[in-house]
Amino acid sequence: MDVERIRKEFPILHQQINGRDLVYLDNAATNQKPKKVIDALVEYYTGYNANIHRGIHTLAERATKAFEQTRETAKQFINAGSTEEIIFTRGVTESINLVAACYGNAFVNEGDEIIISTIEHHSNIVPWQFVCERKKAKLKVIPVSQSGELDLEVYKSFLSPRTKVVAVNHASNSLGTINPVKEIIKLAHEVGAVVLIDGAQAGAHLEIDVQDMDCDFYCLSSHKMYGPTGAGILYGKKELLEKMPPYHGGGEMIKEVTFDKTTYNDLPYKFEAGTPNIADVIAFRHAMEFINSLGKENISAHEHELLLYATEKLSRLKGVRLVGQAKYKVAVLAFVVEGIHHFDIGQMLDARGIAVRTGHHCTQPLMECYGIEGTVRASFSVYNTKKEIDQLVEGLERIINFMK
Ligand code: PMP
Repeated sequence: MDVERIRKEFPILHQQINGRDLVYLDNAATNQKPKKVIDALVEYYTGYNANIHRGIHTLAERATKAFEQTRETAKQFINAGSTEEIIFTRGVTESINLVAACYGNAFVNEGDEIIISTIEHHSNIVPWQFVCERKKAKLKVIPVSQSGELDLEVYKSFLSPRTKVVAVNHASNSLGTINPVKEIIKLAHEVGAVVLIDGAQAGAHLEIDVQDMDCDFYCLSSHKMYGPTGAGILYGKKELLEKMPPYHGGGEMIKEVTFDKTTYNDLPYKFEAGTPNIADVIAFRHAMEFINSLGKENISAHEHELLLYATEKLSRLKGVRLVGQAKYKVAVLAFVVEGIHHFDIGQMLDARGIAVRTGHHCTQPLMECYGIEGTVRASFSVYNTKKEIDQLVEGLERIINFMK
């Protein structure tokens, strides 16, 4: 892995923040974009900006082809059975809301149960609360251990014929925990429930094979995979997507409209009403190709090495307590520092050019469960280096000494 060469592909990394070289360690919020992705956006708007699908002129055909090419790349990226199973959304939040609204409202009834976990992002909690409220269903929450692992025994005890949906993340954005999704899915299927996997924190880091996993729905966000914001994927098994009612109504999702009756378009267009985010979807392909060109295995190996290095260094710092140290993790390191508020740490690191995230990371119930308000979170991507971790550690040391 030639990290220096990879870094050259990311223009944003080569700048100074507050007089120092930028150290970007906020990748779990969004990661940076390689030049190819940025160029794809510019090329679209300067070369072939046009609305897609129904145009017969050359620009419209070019835009349609490029847009649909992303669908093909996405299909291969997650090993879906067909492109009909790939729906473009604005991101994971919209993907989950779509499934909650369309599947939840059609197939969850009074007295049914939906299972989520304590380490879910708010976007995998609130949409299910909406369904439970509307349908008088019950939300059950798998507990998490001190190390950040789900309690599978409690999960098993929750499962029953009343369970209609299980929705958990593949990897946690707050702690990094990689969940045993294959086992979770298999157990849910034994009671006839469908399973949605939130893959936001997995997309750029873990191998994803939806057929092998046998999940019913899988959600991805471009902006956490070196792609632009505002684009994402919902994978759904064809037979489920076919029996679900549409989400938004409007152009593109229809076959025929009369004032008496409207018929809906075939998959995947049935779920893609309106003009989509054409430019960002097109550029998303280049982000997936960037990941493919490096190889997920190589990316994970590099990030894992950084995680082990940072874990070792930070755990030796006096006053630092790591939060959530699961056995299997993506490269996310959350910690608190005794006597210093996480916001202050974040601000003082920023003054040294180091970008980390502080707060609850959209997982307030998890923070409450751990009895903390928030953490500092350093998260690593393929372009990060051990030198940057040394800078983080040095910065933290100075802050801790100064605050004493
Ligand atoms: N789930 C997880 C685990 C996430 O990390 C995020 C993004 N931080 C989301 C959901 C929300 O995704 P999006 O930003 O695409 O709406």
